[in-house]
Amino acid sequence: MMGETVIDMTVTPWREAAACLDAPDDVSFFPERENVAGIAKAKAICATCPVAAECLTWAIESNQGEGIWGGHTPKERRTLRRRWLEEIQRAS
Ligand code: SF4
Repeated sequence: MMGETVIDMTVTPWREAAACLDAPDDVSFFPERENVAGIAKAKAICATCPVAAECLTWAIESNQGEGIWGGHTPKERRTLRRRWLEEIQRAS
C-alpha cells in the first residue's frame, strides 16, 4: 500500500508483493471520499494484487481509518470490522 501511512515491514512482510508498489503515480490509495473515479482506480489495482487478502485482514485488524486497503474503502472496512469483532465476541 502506498501513501501516507507508515507500515512496519516486520509485521507486514506481504507488502513486498503488493501490486500498489508498481502503481502509476497518478493513482492515489488515499483518494478523497467523493473521488469516485480515483477510488475505482485504486480498487482496480487491488483487484490484481496477490496479497489483497493479507492486506485487507491487516487493515481491518489494525483498524486503518483512511485509504483503500485490500480493495476496500474505510466505510466498507468498518462494516467488515464490525462483523469480525462480533465473531470474536461470539467465539469467546
Ligand atoms: S490490496 Fe491494494 S492496497 Fe493492499 S497491498 Fe494490494 S494493491 Fe496495495
